[in-house]
Amino acid sequence: MSKWFTEDWTNNVKFSIKIKEHLYSSRSKYQKIDFYDSYEFGRFFTLDDYLMVTEKDEFIYHEMMIHVPLSVNPLIKNVLVIGGGDGGSVRELTRYPSVEKIDMVEIDEEVVKMCQKLLPLTANKLTDKRVNLYFEDGSKFVKGTEEKYDLIVVDSTDPIGPGEGLFTTEFYQNCYNILTENGILVNQHESPYFDDTKYEMKRAHKKLKNIFEFATVYQAFIPSYASGHWLFGFASKGLHPIKDVKEDVQTKFKIKTKYYNLEVHKAAFALPNYVKQELENA
Ligand code: SAM
Repeated sequence: MSKWFTEDWTNNVKFSIKIKEHLYSSRSKYQKIDFYDSYEFGRFFTLDDYLMVTEKDEFIYHEMMIHVPLSVNPLIKNVLVIGGGDGGSVRELTRYPSVEKIDMVEIDEEVVKMCQKLLPLTANKLTDKRVNLYFEDGSKFVKGTEEKYDLIVVDSTDPIGPGEGLFTTEFYQNCYNILTENGILVNQHESPYFDDTKYEMKRAHKKLKNIFEFATVYQAFIPSYASGHWLFGFASKGLHPIKDVKEDVQTKFKIKTKYYNLEVHKAAFALPNYVKQELENA
């Protein structure tokens, strides 16, 4: 009999992937962790039965998370990644020789260890000498640190369980306080399509808009995430994602991307009317 992994996208919609092998299952102090191998998406892992990263479409999420802010401010040197235990965001950051320091704060050490073992595609740059790993709660870290960052990447789970504190006003305010003058924050901003994720998207946007001089969202198509239509938040102390974009950053560093390019960058900020309306009503 064939085996399937099924994620509930809503109470009425399910998404299933046919499994070759269930590679690993455990319960850490924070969450249930599972790794699978599949026919269509390659290896993937889930936290509390929610899909995090698949080998087949992770490049879309990680490229859009990192190359967008780096194209807006190529002078970014000091970066804080919150969450991101699979290492995909760090991998994209390490492609910029101009980035000098990457602090990654992941609450669950077991996620990192298991990704290094079973998902080297994303985790293989976590040993780069510019990367410092901290295993603690990101919401506490941003309250306590005296460091200043040019970019904060909030590569979090959904706002349930350990990820909840990464969607609060206090967290965003603390992030603002530790950003440099031209600082940018990008975050995993949920989907605008189904009601549950739409609610979280609006809440996050409202909070970011109240704190940052500039806040908007941008979009990408990520097949394994609920509805496929996924958003990222872009909040800054003034830099504009399109007016301030530099045209030649990836060419200069010879960075080849599979999804990201300048046309995609600009188009990603062109939002459908229903998304604009939801954000205005947030
Ligand atoms: N791309 C993914 C998505 O949107 O589905 C996010 C993946 S990444 C693996 C999310 C990580 O955030 C997880 O490894 C989780 O352990 C971590 N995390 C959740 N809450 C956290 C917190 N409060 N502080 C630091 N890391 C946290």
